[in-house]
Amino acid sequence: MSQEQSSSGAVTARVVIVGAGFGGLATAKALAGSEVAVTLIDQHNYHLFVPLLYQVATAALSPADIAEPIRHILSGAPNVNVVMGRVTGIDQGARQVLLADGSGIAYDRLVIATGSTSTYFGHDAWAPHAASLKSLEEARTIRTRVLQAFERAERTQDPAERARLMTIVVVGGGPTGVEMAGSIAELAHHALARDFRHIDPTTARVILVEAGPRLLTAFPEALAAYALGSLERLGVSVMTGQAVQDIDAEGVTLAGRVVPAATVIWGAGVRASPAAGWLGVTPDRNGRIPVEPDLSVTGCPDVFALGDTALIRDAAGEPLPGLAQVAQQQGSHLGRALREALTQGKPLPSFTFQNRGNAAIVGRHAAIFDFGRGRRLKGFPAWLLWAAVHVVLLVDFAQRTRVSLQWLWRYLTYRRGARLITAPPAR
Ligand SMILES: Cc1cc2nc3c(=O)[nH]c(=O)nc-3n(C[C@H](O)[C@H](O)[C@H](O)COP(=O)(O)OP(=O)(O)OC[C@H]3O[C@@H](n4cnc5c(N)ncnc54)[C@H](O)[C@@H]3O)c2cc1C
Repeated sequence: MSQEQSSSGAVTARVVIVGAGFGGLATAKALAGSEVAVTLIDQHNYHLFVPLLYQVATAALSPADIAEPIRHILSGAPNVNVVMGRVTGIDQGARQVLLADGSGIAYDRLVIATGSTSTYFGHDAWAPHAASLKSLEEARTIRTRVLQAFERAERTQDPAERARLMTIVVVGGGPTGVEMAGSIAELAHHALARDFRHIDPTTARVILVEAGPRLLTAFPEALAAYALGSLERLGVSVMTGQAVQDIDAEGVTLAGRVVPAATVIWGAGVRASPAAGWLGVTPDRNGRIPVEPDLSVTGCPDVFALGDTALIRDAAGEPLPGLAQVAQQQGSHLGRALREALTQGKPLPSFTFQNRGNAAIVGRHAAIFDFGRGRRLKGFPAWLLWAAVHVVLLVDFAQRTRVSLQWLWRYLTYRRGARLITAPPAR
C-alpha cells in the first residue's frame, strides 16, 4: 500500500522527513494542518539552534536555552508524527526509511534534511584532542575542557604546564572559529578574571589559526579586517597562513613547531551527512546530494534533499552556502510545494534563495553583517541586529525571553552563569 487512509476515510499521502534541524522542521511546519500524513524523524528529541552553540561552549548560555523538544514545537500539528530514531539507510525499491533499531517507515515522498558533520580532512586521529562544535554534547565538552584546564592550572606548580593549560587554540578562521575565539577570550579575560587565587586568567592565551591568507573568506575584505581588529582588541592572537600539521595531547604543531595547548577547538571544516550513500547518488566533493531546482534529488523524483546536505546552485552557478537561513527557506518552500502538489495536484515550483544577510559575531558587542550587493553593517549596530534576529528565530517564547535576559545580564555585568563542569570529577 503506498498511501494510508485518514480517519475520515480519505486517502492520505505520506511524507517522511529525516532531520528536525532548520530545514526539516520548516518543512514539517509548512505541512502542519494539511491533509498530508507527515512523519518527522530525528536522532535527538530536540531541535537545536546551532548558531548559538558557541555560547553554550563558552558558558554564556545553558543547553536548554538553545534546544527545544520537537514534540513540543509540533504539539499543535495532529497530522505530524514525531519519531525519535537514527536513520541508517533508505530502501528506495520498498520506499522505506531504515532505522538503527531495525524498523522501517514507509513513504510516498521523502525529504532528507540531515545537515552536516565536522571533518578533519582525513586526520581523524586529531578528533579526540580537538573538539568540534556541531552538537550540544560537543559544546559541553568544550566548556568542560576549558574550565577544567583553568582548574588544573590553578593547582599546578609547573610554570610551563600552567602556560599550556592556559592556552586555547581555535583552528579555522570562518564564522565558527571567529565567534569561538572572541567568546573564549572574553570568558578568560573578563568572566573568569576574579575567580581564581593562584592564576591570572587575563594572561590566558587564545590563538586563532587559519590556513588561508585571511579570516572570514565568505565576507568582504573590509568586514574581515574589522573582525580581525576586534579580535585583537579582545586579546586573541590571530595566525593566518598557518596550516595545522598535527594535533595531539600536547598541543598543535604549526610550521614544525609545537604550540603547547591543553584545549584545542576545531572549527575548520564541515562535510554533508552520509545521506548521498543511502540513495546511491554521486555527491559533490563535500558529500552533498545534487538536487534539481524544485529540490528533488537528481534521478530520484520522489526524494528531496535540502539544507547542508544538498547541493543547489544560485543563478550565478555558485553553490548556496551552508546556512540556517538557506535550510529554513528551502524547508518552508518545499513544505508548501508538497502540500499543494499532494492535495491539489499542483506542479512543484523552483526554489529561489532570498539572502537576508550573513553575520559573524566578534565578542559581546561587535558583529559584521553582509547583505550582499555592497550593503554592510559592522560594530555595535550589527551586534544589536544579530541579537534581535537570533532571539526572534529562537523557537519558543520562553526561550526568547530567557536568552534575551541572559544576554542583557551578561552585557551589563560580563557574568556567565553556565560555568559548570559536567564531566565526571577529576582525579
Ligand atoms: C557552530 C556553528 C555556527 C553556525 N552559525 C550560523 C549562523 O550564525 N547563521 C547561519 O545561518 N548558519 C549558521 N550555521 C550553519 C547552520 O547551523 C546550518 O547551515 C544549518 O543548521 C543547516 O540546517 P539543516 O536543516 O540542513 O541541518 P541541521 O540543522 O544540522 O539539522 C540536521 C538534523 O538532522 C538530524 N540527523 C542527522 N543525521 C541523522 C540520522 N542519521 N538520523 C536521524 N536524524 C539525523 C540531526 O540530529 C539534526 O537535528 C552554523 C553552524 C555551526 C556548526
